[in-house]
Amino acid sequence: MSYDYGLFIGGEERPAQSGAVIDVRNPATGEVIGQVADAGPEDVAAAVAAAAGAAEAWAGTSQARRAGYLYDLAALITERAGELATIETSDMGKPITVSKKVDLRSAPEAVEYFAGMAGKIEGRTVPVPGRFLNYTVREPYGVVAGIIPWNYPLLQAIWKIAPAVVAGNTVVLKPAEQAPLSPLALVRLAQEAGLPPGVVNAVPGYGEVAGAALCAEPDVALIAFTGSVETGAAVQAAAAQRVVPVTLELGGKSPTIVFEDADLRSAIAMAYAAIFTNQGEVCTAGSRLLVHESRHDEVLAGLLAMIGEKTVIGDPLDPATTLGPLVDDEQLRRVQGFVDRAREAGTGELVTGGSTRKVEGLASDLFFEPTVFDHVPADSEIAQQEVFGPVLCVLPFSSEDEAVELANGVRYGLAASVHTRDVGRAHRVASRLRAGNVWINSWGNVHSASPYGGYKMSGHGREMGFAIMDAVTQEKSVWVSMR
Ligand code: ADP
Repeated sequence: MSYDYGLFIGGEERPAQSGAVIDVRNPATGEVIGQVADAGPEDVAAAVAAAAGAAEAWAGTSQARRAGYLYDLAALITERAGELATIETSDMGKPITVSKKVDLRSAPEAVEYFAGMAGKIEGRTVPVPGRFLNYTVREPYGVVAGIIPWNYPLLQAIWKIAPAVVAGNTVVLKPAEQAPLSPLALVRLAQEAGLPPGVVNAVPGYGEVAGAALCAEPDVALIAFTGSVETGAAVQAAAAQRVVPVTLELGGKSPTIVFEDADLRSAIAMAYAAIFTNQGEVCTAGSRLLVHESRHDEVLAGLLAMIGEKTVIGDPLDPATTLGPLVDDEQLRRVQGFVDRAREAGTGELVTGGSTRKVEGLASDLFFEPTVFDHVPADSEIAQQEVFGPVLCVLPFSSEDEAVELANGVRYGLAASVHTRDVGRAHRVASRLRAGNVWINSWGNVHSASPYGGYKMSGHGREMGFAIMDAVTQEKSVWVSMR
């Protein structure tokens, strides 16, 4: 089975004008499992032109009809959930149970949630002085560019496409070169659902070429980006040249904070999930475990026991597997680089993992062991920078103030989880954390209904929740003289 996709432009699926393609590899086997078109600047221009051409008619389409297409798309996703889960796992390496239970469970639900916003995007009447009526309306921008990463490709594509489209925008999506298949499968389904030509377009290709070209296109009126801080900053700089808004969902170095009064069984299970889910390739990964010094030994022992008992490194298509391969060689070099530099510098103590592991019967070298460094200095590279792999730093603390200071002492501010039985402390600490998402006695909850986004260098703008409707529309103020 070969998964092959072209560019999606104006309702047609076609090859790149140059004829170039990108081979897509299964990271667990190293095998080529498909090819996607490799968009050049001329293809990106054609996609933006198609989106711009469709924008007016789409904005004039009734909200109920716009939503109707999305409900049909959600039904198609549900119908093809098995195939989409297999594509997701084969393309980026996440365990099939995660693809099924997280990605494919959330995907149709998210599309339906955003479809349900149709007809609910309201303006305001504003009490102004004098004999004037002042009201506002929220209008679509026109063409929205969505640029997404490879760790949750299907959901990321949905989060970019569905809210923008329901609000009356048209979209050009740039999937990540490392994992383009499920976003393109989604766009193919959107065509099957009957979305009019040009409403949803896709330009698979490389970031520096297709992504950069998309940011520079004059008709792109809003850029919604998820990825690394460095690329996000470049996207924001490109957008500044044309004075268009951006929303940025960037990286994180999120703390799991375990206080001395926490339910340790639960806290350990959450700390484990926070860093080893999806191979640690999660924006909100709990990559720093801050633990009260009085419970440090118990928590570390519990975590190591859980790593030994629960982790199954293997073929991600096997339902027993809990930890799949990293997405590609570049990501492996990145993760291994952080670990090797920490070891060479004598940063903390490596208590488990630190290397790749061979899986019998699979050619890939991309399986990385769950890795834990203990007593890591707060200012070291591995405690400060996002690794985006199954690598945890443990930092003991002795007081609530110190825990908050450590938690906030990184350039990121995406998420944090707080484990305590003390209700006052839970809320007090939550209020002091400079992070866009805080989980109390939990980790990783994300739902379409709740706003999601970062503080500090983790980005700005919110996805999901009703906040997304503010992001994908602009407010117009209309004054009417009543004299
Ligand atoms: P990661 O480190 O997770 O691969 P990136 O931030 O590099 O994250 O990539 C996220 C997305 O941004 C991908 O779709 C990638 O192709 C795209 N991208 C990379 N460089 C640029 C760029 N200069 N302009 C626009 N998009 C880019």
